[in-house]
Amino acid sequence: MWAAVDLKWGLLCLLGGVLLVFAYHLRKLVALVYWTRDPIGTPTPYGLGLWDYVFANLSRRARVGYDQRERLAQALSRFREASQAMPDGVVYLSHHNTIEWINIAAERHFELDGERDEGQPVTNLVRQPDFVRYIETGDYSEPLILRSLRHTGTTLQIQIVPFGEDQHMILSRDITQIDRLETMRRDFVANVSHELKTPLTVVSGFVEMLHDGLEDFPPDDARRYLHLALDQSGRMQRLIDDLLALSALETAGPMEDEEPIDVHSLLRIVLQEAELLSGGRHRIELLPGPAATVMGAHKELHSALSNLASNAVRYSPDGGLIRLGWSADEQGGEFWVEDNGIGIPAEHIPRLTERFYRVDRGRSRETGGTGLGLAIVKHILTRHQAQLDVRSEPGRGSRFAMRFPLRRMQLRAALAA
Ligand code: ADP
Repeated sequence: MWAAVDLKWGLLCLLGGVLLVFAYHLRKLVALVYWTRDPIGTPTPYGLGLWDYVFANLSRRARVGYDQRERLAQALSRFREASQAMPDGVVYLSHHNTIEWINIAAERHFELDGERDEGQPVTNLVRQPDFVRYIETGDYSEPLILRSLRHTGTTLQIQIVPFGEDQHMILSRDITQIDRLETMRRDFVANVSHELKTPLTVVSGFVEMLHDGLEDFPPDDARRYLHLALDQSGRMQRLIDDLLALSALETAGPMEDEEPIDVHSLLRIVLQEAELLSGGRHRIELLPGPAATVMGAHKELHSALSNLASNAVRYSPDGGLIRLGWSADEQGGEFWVEDNGIGIPAEHIPRLTERFYRVDRGRSRETGGTGLGLAIVKHILTRHQAQLDVRSEPGRGSRFAMRFPLRRMQLRAALAA
């Protein structure tokens, strides 16, 4: 009977022990479950024996995972910072071309907002047909040139780079300036060809006529044709001279032949040239102003002032009054040329120094103009840190002034002191 009681107590104790062990494991399991729900980085619960081993391992793994995530997050944020700082635009697109991330340059290029537009299909927001077609064709071997975006008026070069699974990156670059230069270059070549073609056609036409039937032409007619041909070849010569002058100025390095130029003697030379060109058709006056010198290249300043004086003669009707002179104040000094000629409507004034820009093409040609005079003047003045000031009123006349900074000039009075 005592043996049966002992066995019962023994079994009860064993059961109690098993239950205790079970309860302990259950508690540790619950602690583990709670730990997995806690924020990453929470220390693992405390445990004995096997649990100590399990928790230690988990803690080590969690630490390694946490460190890796941290490193990854840092790398990602560095990468985003670098992408933000890029002058080129970057747009990440996930599936179906929805916007995932945009850098600042791309926001500017496409007028997008990173926060507002995230998750939107890019083609819903950038709707230019060329862009939509480019993105939809899937052929990204060549970049797309997108001109005159809605408000910004810029030209973008766009390249799409596919990566991962159905993911794309749009790279955009603002090439407005390069595009403008390229257009200018094309226009320039077209203009030069056109300007040369017209006189060349006239000259070759006359030569052909005379060649085919010299004996049929009365000598007076032949002389007249030859005179016209000579006129046209003179025009081509002037154009080539101006083109060479412009190109020399564009390719020239910093000025080496600078010297103090006496403003009065330069004005006198230009006055004589203007009188010669006018042939007595205009009244030309000199108002020399205070004696002074300007530091500069004599040949260049002579050419610039002659251009202004010759324009005054060419764009003033017979009997007009032309005045040229020099004035100085505490900010600097200026050569100026005034006429009471045909004048220039205000909207043309900002464009006068563009190559081949003419207000009245016919009058410019008639008077032997090449359309390059003021472009040459502008180049020369830039090299001298000087500015061109133009005031004009249609029908009343014009005033062109070349304004030099104080550091380039010396008044004779100051020289003597
Ligand atoms: P061009 O050889 O045609 O005269 P320029 O570059 O010297 O070329 O001048 C550009 C244009 O500016 C001229 O075609 C003319 O229309 C205008 N212009 C220049 N100077 C005058 C002036 N004094 N009066 C009126 N128009 C002028």
